[in-house]
Amino acid sequence: MSKDKIIIAGPCSAESREQVIASARALSLLGVSYLRAGVWKPRTKPGSFEGAGDKALEWLREAKALTGLPIATEVATAHHAAKALEAGVDMLWIGARTTSNPFSVQEIAEAVAGCDTPIFIKNPINADVELWMGAVERMEKCGVGNIGLIHRGFSGYDTSAGYRNAPLWQVALEMKRRMPSLAMICDPSHICGNRTGLLDVAQRAADLDYDGVMIECHPTPEEALTDADQQITPQTLGSLLAQLVWRRGEGESVGCREELEQLRGTIDRLDEEIFSLLAKRMDISEEIGRLKLRDNLTILQSGRWQEVVARVVAHTDSLGLGRQCVEQILDAIHLESIERQNKIMH
Ligand code: PEP
Ligand code: MN
Repeated sequence: MSKDKIIIAGPCSAESREQVIASARALSLLGVSYLRAGVWKPRTKPGSFEGAGDKALEWLREAKALTGLPIATEVATAHHAAKALEAGVDMLWIGARTTSNPFSVQEIAEAVAGCDTPIFIKNPINADVELWMGAVERMEKCGVGNIGLIHRGFSGYDTSAGYRNAPLWQVALEMKRRMPSLAMICDPSHICGNRTGLLDVAQRAADLDYDGVMIECHPTPEEALTDADQQITPQTLGSLLAQLVWRRGEGESVGCREELEQLRGTIDRLDEEIFSLLAKRMDISEEIGRLKLRDNLTILQSGRWQEVVARVVAHTDSLGLGRQCVEQILDAIHLESIERQNKIMH
């Protein structure tokens, strides 16, 4: 395991003093960076376990005193934030449901104004980069100096892809692109909603140059009061962390630098060729647009477009290119082509 990666692990919820201390003891042997435990739990339905509340902060403090492990918890209100800071919590995070509500984020930002404690902001439940950035900006405006991001996936109606919260990696990558100075960690537990997919998702994050992971861990996962399906034992976490490969990021010295530069040069030239061809294709689209204008034809000719897609897909399938990628590129080309013809028509 790379030393500078942030590994946060611990139960979804702090359930009892014994459970928190047992978790801390086991996790402290694995070299994790923070013990996590939810003190106040935002539940989808009323009537389920909503966390032990303020008294659980004492359990966390005791666990830290016994093991030396820094402690982390989720805050959803100004009261939570004030209590957590008062208890000496070493890291706070804002949950996905809370990030989705600017009033709550503002209230928390004012409660933690000027603090140095790291505050991680989970993505909002919907795939809205602006809203996620807005939460960061609210913290920055209140003088919070140490902000990080947690990618926990996005809720949706369709869970057929097997995720509890669809990862939509491109959304997190766009956030990383827009706020490159912030650490981005991945929460495979809430993305997967099960135990079996955790390593794959964590590895994907490591391959995408994330700065760490947050994984839910419970001494007896099947008995957990919240998120029982996705929690793993500290022992299983140990083997997951041993299998997880952290790769070297940009700027770190690597032996293959020269070969890499050569291959990247080829990629740059190919990109130029691809886009020069695309420009030629658009010139032809414009010519077609002029013909359509002359003979009063619609810009969109659905039958023809279906033929184009079918031809290209048959070709790209034989080249081994991924369908989704090809379809997205074709969509973008089609939109630009329509746009060009639109300009000619009007
Ligand atoms: C959690 O981390 O236990 C939690 C409630 O997460 P999320 O905000 O991602 O649902
Ligand atoms: Mn949870």
